[in-house]
Amino acid sequence: MQLGDYNRIVEREMLWLGCQQITPGQVTVITIDDQNATWYNFTRFKDAEKGCHISGMSELKKYFQRFGYLSIPNNQNDNFTDVFDAQFESAVILYQQKFGLPVTGKLDSETISTIMSPRCGVSDTESTIHATKHFAYFYGRPRWDRGSSMTLTYAFSPTDMIDYISLPEIKTVFKRSFSRWASVIPVNFTEIDDYPSANIKIGFFKGDHGDGQPFDGVLGVLAHAFSPENGRFHLDEDETWAIDFEKVKSKMAIDLESVATHEIGHILGLAHSSIKEAVMYPSLKPRSKKVNLKLDDVEGVQALYGSNPNFKYSSLLAYENSYNKAINLNQRSCSWTFSTVVVVVFILFMIT
Ligand SMILES: [Zn+2]
Ligand SMILES: [Zn+2]
Repeated sequence: MQLGDYNRIVEREMLWLGCQQITPGQVTVITIDDQNATWYNFTRFKDAEKGCHISGMSELKKYFQRFGYLSIPNNQNDNFTDVFDAQFESAVILYQQKFGLPVTGKLDSETISTIMSPRCGVSDTESTIHATKHFAYFYGRPRWDRGSSMTLTYAFSPTDMIDYISLPEIKTVFKRSFSRWASVIPVNFTEIDDYPSANIKIGFFKGDHGDGQPFDGVLGVLAHAFSPENGRFHLDEDETWAIDFEKVKSKMAIDLESVATHEIGHILGLAHSSIKEAVMYPSLKPRSKKVNLKLDDVEGVQALYGSNPNFKYSSLLAYENSYNKAINLNQRSCSWTFSTVVVVVFILFMIT
């Protein structure tokens, strides 16, 4: 499927019920709306469980391998079979634990929907996982070390940027994202023009861009950043980046500020969190925004760098409480609207 393809296509779809393949000859009409089919095909594994043999499951195993849930030697392609074996079941369980999903060991609809969500390209399990906390670090717990009052510089690539959002607007978004982290730890971030000498190097890249972590076109992987003290911060140029959903109507629009805030967490040394509300959770739905640091993010980064003397837990807790109260009230008064949104989001992923 091609980018920008607005054709309606007719596709014969196989339905799966547990392990049993049913071929009703059902014809499903799917509207393809400026997107590719990165992980769309995974819908056909819905309800699969241990013992199933489904053609193409090897691709799903490669997805699990890519994000750290399987360790199959991939020097031989036929090491990835189409059998849902015990090793794959363990990987599914680990994935469900990491994403805070019900742990069923099966590819239930919630798990498949999460797998299909756009996400960060950083592996989920290249990290030290705490028994009692949800935040995590990269192996060896690397952090930036520049003395007690630390200033890290960042710069934008002079060549690898997008042109449909102005540079001043992009800079404003990143300034806000950096300032959120700076407000909780004793670290300052300063923008400089000299890209080669900056600690943090930000740019937009397409496909294979030379770091062994190729991007994959629209949706799928959105961005990735490297652990300290590497500083490379890469965004997938093929996404429809947005800073204002009022102006960008695409169903595939991705909030730049949310992704920027998440990737700065990696730059600082945080790995992925299993708390859905945390900024460091690995996936982000299109047209959604998650920019405010949660307690889990703050505890994680402060364990690496200490607290900013001006930071007060009480203000964060007060904010989280008022946020939760607002959510609860909203859910009580607008429960129909809320579930409609969930259904719409789910349908959106069924057709992407
Ligand atoms: Zn990430
Ligand atoms: Zn990269």
